[in-house]
Amino acid sequence: MTAPNPLLSGLLGRCPNCGEGYLFEGFLKVAPRREACGYDLAKADSGDGPAVFVILIAGFIVAFSALITEIAVHPPVWVHLVLWLPATLVICLVLLRPMKGAMLAAQFKNKASEARHD
Ligand SMILES: [Zn+2]
Repeated sequence: MTAPNPLLSGLLGRCPNCGEGYLFEGFLKVAPRREACGYDLAKADSGDGPAVFVILIAGFIVAFSALITEIAVHPPVWVHLVLWLPATLVICLVLLRPMKGAMLAAQFKNKASEARHD
């Protein structure tokens, strides 16, 4: 069996070691030990990294969408609020888990001290 791509596995919320089993046991809580291969990610900590990527990506999407909408349609301010506040929330929630999985997988792939093999 070939080793899975750790970054792709992380994005999909799978174990970066074997590609099987779930990385999370809650929305963002990392399962301390993979059920499929027993790999231990209890010490893994992605810190603020995923939030930074989520802020940058969601900010880009929402800011440019609002700008294009404003230029094209000139809607009243309440339309922007109704459109872009929920869109910001949804985009952030959708991106947060894959970004955290990718950060944890990147730590695994690059043998960061928090997630290295012991
Ligand atoms: Zn595994």
